[in-house]
Amino acid sequence: MTFLNSLSDGKKMTDKVFKAAVKANEAKIKHGSENVVDATLGTLFDETETFCAFDSVWEPYKSISNIQKAKYAGGIPGNPSYLTTVYKWLFKDLTLHTKIVATPGGAGAVSATIHNILDPGQILLKPSLGWGPYNTMATEHGVKAVDYNLFSDDGFDIDNFKQKLANVMAKQGKVLAIINDPCHNPSGYTMTEDEWDEILTYVDMLAQRGPIIILQDIAYIDFSTNPDWKKHFKKYQNLSDNIMVVIAFSLSKTLTAYGARVGAAIAITSNQKELDKWHDAMVYTARSTWSTINNSMMTLFAKLYNDKSLYDAYLNEKSKYVSLLKERADIFIKEADQENLPYYPFVEGFFVTLRIDNADKEAIYKRLQDNNIFTVQVNNGLRIALCSVSKNKLKGLAKKIKACL
Ligand code: PLP
Repeated sequence: MTFLNSLSDGKKMTDKVFKAAVKANEAKIKHGSENVVDATLGTLFDETETFCAFDSVWEPYKSISNIQKAKYAGGIPGNPSYLTTVYKWLFKDLTLHTKIVATPGGAGAVSATIHNILDPGQILLKPSLGWGPYNTMATEHGVKAVDYNLFSDDGFDIDNFKQKLANVMAKQGKVLAIINDPCHNPSGYTMTEDEWDEILTYVDMLAQRGPIIILQDIAYIDFSTNPDWKKHFKKYQNLSDNIMVVIAFSLSKTLTAYGARVGAAIAITSNQKELDKWHDAMVYTARSTWSTINNSMMTLFAKLYNDKSLYDAYLNEKSKYVSLLKERADIFIKEADQENLPYYPFVEGFFVTLRIDNADKEAIYKRLQDNNIFTVQVNNGLRIALCSVSKNKLKGLAKKIKACL
């Protein structure tokens, strides 16, 4: 017998990132942290390998009153000032047909979208190389995660994506597909405009057969090296009636506010009736699961954006880290090329991932650990978190890794 229901009986969370981080910490105690390369955690660390919490975020936070911190949010969908700030932060002056719901991080946005879009037993399309919790969430909601192949050669595998979309449409008359872009976790790839255009043209055609929902996870958007990346959203201005894009946004990386658990789900569609229904369903999910979102952080986000001096200070501080990430990537990628280390297409962001077959992965992962190099296992690869390793330790790392292959 079991006390659990049939869906929950057997669920067990094994988080590969935290597991690897624990090993790295043990090695630091044993061998001294200066001798350990801890490339496990997907959070930003500075050049002294100290956890980075932006002063431009956490100093103004102190000015928020205790009452505001203690209070519930101004509504289940999120504080109105937060929702308008999310819109402006992402879309600036663009006119897009949207509704927004505050969520507990990007995770809340992704999970609630899967929950409200798919019936149990239906298929969720997700990238073959991607953020682990997409699988966890699929299981949680009783849906089947099916991979589209992410890369062919040096870019997005557009043919496979189209084929998988068509198969799922033929099977269930409706498609929900996750795309994590820009600064994809774990490869660091950012799709080209042409790739996006080809996807949207195809989606537009396929949507004549049934509804298509693209769930775009933009957790790392504010760390793109392209200052104009957000112009991408213009592409969603003229989507046909049968298409909805749901954007999963997060303050975790954007503000170095991982623990605050604030994000948003933003639906875009020209179909007003469906947009209203989506919003009603999401607010219902909010009330029945997390209830309301952290009031003080929503307040802070609006304050940061609307006060020019605070906003400028934030942009300055963040841009230093965007540059630092680029410097770290330049060091590692240049040396990886010299060493002929295979890695997935990389453009920018927090991570780079070595291409390693699943068959060899575990052994190499362990050999690296024996040499005090800590990575995270992903599908056919080992992820290196550039966000958490200093430039100093990245120098010579490719060579050390090569010696372990
Ligand atoms: N999506 C991706 C690809 C991520 O890497 C993360 C965080 O690591 C998230 C979404 C969501 O993070 P959070 O729920 O903290 O906003």
